[in-house]
Amino acid sequence: MPFYKDIELVCRGCGVTFYFTAGEQEFYADKGFLNEPTRCPRCRSRRERGGQHEKKHEKAQ
Ligand SMILES: [Zn+2]
Repeated sequence: MPFYKDIELVCRGCGVTFYFTAGEQEFYADKGFLNEPTRCPRCRSRRERGGQHEKKHEKAQ
């Protein structure tokens, strides 16, 4: 069983720091998503209808 822990990420949309939680990682893995989210939950929900493809994730520090 994979071990997940919360990851701190910076949103590419608004620059806010957010957590990619263990629960979300498990959810992503279950859905077959390989990339980390690049945007905070707020930006994601705002862009949900856009259906834009994410490019390869980049580490924005
Ligand atoms: Zn954001």
